[in-house]
Amino acid sequence: MDVRPFWLAGSPATGDDELTVTNPHDGRVVGVGSVPTQNQVEQAVAAAHAVRKEAAALPIHVRAEALAHVSRRLAERSEEIARLISAENGKPIFWARGEVGRAVSTFRFAAEETRRFSGDVQRLDTEPAANGRLAYVSRQPYGPVLAVTPFNFPLNLVAHKVAPAIAAGAPVIVKPAPATPLSALLLGEILAETALPAGMFSILPVPNDRAGALVDDPRLPVVSFTGSGPVGFAIKDRVPRKHVTLELGGNAAAVVLADADLDWAATRVALFSNYQAGQSCIAVQRVIVEEPVAEAFTAKLVAAVESLVVGDPADDKTQVGPLVSVEAAERVEQWVAEAVAAGGKVLTGGGRDGATIAPTVLAEVPRDAKVIREEVFGPVLVIEPVGSVDEAFDAVNDSKYGLQAGVFTRSLEVAFRAGKELEVGGVIIGDVPSYRADQMPYGGLKESGIGREGLRSAMEDYTFEKVMVLTGL
Ligand code: NAD
Repeated sequence: MDVRPFWLAGSPATGDDELTVTNPHDGRVVGVGSVPTQNQVEQAVAAAHAVRKEAAALPIHVRAEALAHVSRRLAERSEEIARLISAENGKPIFWARGEVGRAVSTFRFAAEETRRFSGDVQRLDTEPAANGRLAYVSRQPYGPVLAVTPFNFPLNLVAHKVAPAIAAGAPVIVKPAPATPLSALLLGEILAETALPAGMFSILPVPNDRAGALVDDPRLPVVSFTGSGPVGFAIKDRVPRKHVTLELGGNAAAVVLADADLDWAATRVALFSNYQAGQSCIAVQRVIVEEPVAEAFTAKLVAAVESLVVGDPADDKTQVGPLVSVEAAERVEQWVAEAVAAGGKVLTGGGRDGATIAPTVLAEVPRDAKVIREEVFGPVLVIEPVGSVDEAFDAVNDSKYGLQAGVFTRSLEVAFRAGKELEVGGVIIGDVPSYRADQMPYGGLKESGIGREGLRSAMEDYTFEKVMVLTGL
């Protein structure tokens, strides 16, 4: 099997070690990636540091054309890339195609946003002492961005860091997840076709025990991390003086109120508690239902969950595939067993076959169970009936996480209340919390993270405002 090179300062390279990637569905080897030596990592960091001024001065049309090229080429190679994402991650091909489509949009949005990122002019003569003075406020990159990404969206979450870095004029070094590095390495092929200067990007699949050296390196002043809370907060603690963005986990809730369209709500909650086998930071984990409709909603929900097609991720019809590994599935199985031992009832699912967990709905689970309090990251949904809108919102907020929430209601008044009262980074009215448009600000409160992504927000994160005051005007 060919070994995929990694990307060192925009060029393909091989190191002295390899990383074998297997399909979690059947254990088959999907590909082998080359792992850089410490010396090669050093070369990549030095190249990013060396090119930082040239990167910051790159003409907007060069950035925009490079980003548009990546968008076009992802679209042209979309089926090949979707197959690779599906194989390395176990994601059903239907969802993998969706992920490629989103990455196409992410790079296109970045090409558009870089044209709008022009700074601002402020008149200062609001006070007599500043007569004749004007401030030109520009945004300048701090320098190279270290992008650390998780396994669950191996292409689009890399795109969410690479595209705004290029758009903002910052070199970027990607450290992809060890389970799913191949999609990022393929993206490197497309980035290498652009006219970006050497050193503008590197993609380095180093193992976790060597990633700390990249985090510590003072030549990489920005760390943009997406992944689990413990790893993310350890990075923040390790480099408190750096600009660190953390996109972390969640236990997202959908609220179904008595005035909701129950068929729509049941279909959406069923699908999005199980999409990517629940391995999304905004997969629905808790569904909070107003009592008058709880019984009717539960019946529709269980029927919708049982209609989902579970199976081989390569099959067009499959909606739910395996988790990323057998160990991950064993952990989820254990958490379900703990919830049941504490009094929870399994309404459907509950079983495990290798890395696959059957779509599972639980009821009557005590509030302190891990399947409610922690991030399950598996196809497990807990139903919780409540007596009022107040109780529903309290239940959403009774979480250490705060990424997004969904509220199914027809009431505009309740919708605005949800927008004010729910302690999350995003409230989705009339749909599940699992909605993300790639240009919108996205991120969490509490243990769900620090900072925001989305093209504009990430570009702001990677840059600082620089003021130049002109006098004597
Ligand atoms: P993870 O924290 O295990 O790994 C994330 C990345 O950190 C990987 O690249 C990993 O190799 C790297 N890493 C691990 N140890 C490191 C260390 N000591 N130093 C530097 N880097 C290190 O997360 P995961 O299992 O890949 O992903 C799942 C998690 O990601 C879930 O918690 C999920 O909610 C979260 N996530 C969040 C978002 C979001 O936007 N908020 C999106 C997707 C996933």
